[in-house]
Amino acid sequence: MLLLQKLARPVLDYALPERCPACGAITADGANFCADCWPQLRFLQPPWCDGCALPFAYEQEAGALCAECLAHRPLHDGIRAVVAYNDMSRQIALRLKYGGRIGLAKLIARQLVRHLPDERCDMVVTPVPLHWTRLWSRSFNQSALIAQELARLGGIQYCPDVLLRIRRTPSLRGLSSKERRKTVAKAFVANPVKTAGLKAARIILVDDVLTTGATSDGCIKALKKAGASWVQLYCWARVVRGDADSGNTAISLDA
Ligand SMILES: [Zn+2]
Ligand SMILES: [Zn+2]
Repeated sequence: MLLLQKLARPVLDYALPERCPACGAITADGANFCADCWPQLRFLQPPWCDGCALPFAYEQEAGALCAECLAHRPLHDGIRAVVAYNDMSRQIALRLKYGGRIGLAKLIARQLVRHLPDERCDMVVTPVPLHWTRLWSRSFNQSALIAQELARLGGIQYCPDVLLRIRRTPSLRGLSSKERRKTVAKAFVANPVKTAGLKAARIILVDDVLTTGATSDGCIKALKKAGASWVQLYCWARVVRGDADSGNTAISLDA
């Protein structure tokens, strides 16, 4: 079978040329994104706030915090996102979520793996879970696909069922920040079968998109309540405070 695949590979490559994951255009050099889409993505990297990974305009000393994190230390222990949330990154997230572009999860994980801490052998990677009714209707959890690949690439244990989503949350669109938090607060619990393993655990929580933070905060609260000592959030795209194009469409993916 393997031999057959090897023999078929050049033919397949010829028949299925590399396509841009954002727009589907054939890319001449087999690169990830085409020349039109690439400049529309804003890749995030240090210097950034040690708390929330909000990019700093200028180089700052290691461990520096932004004004908001200084005022209110966030629930999470860091955010790592590949790109800023905008129309282009949102389109890519939607293609993964609804368009069945499962290969995108691998691409996203390949971008995220460089942010993993060096000392990670005791860590666990887990996704923000979907409610079972959504999982049933969509047949896969896009965040779980990213999480699984990230764990594989990073050599970390993948544990898909650390969290349970016990309530289906309605659309959060139009709700205030307080209302959103209230809506998702009781949606997540730590899986009672797994809680013994969560004492002092260090967890990488994976979501596709970070918008308001209400969903991930609900997950992190449940993990920490069950004993996790450190939870870092990994995602494809995040809203960057102050970005003009992260505006009102931001919460439309938060479901
Ligand atoms: Zn493109
Ligand atoms: Zn910050």
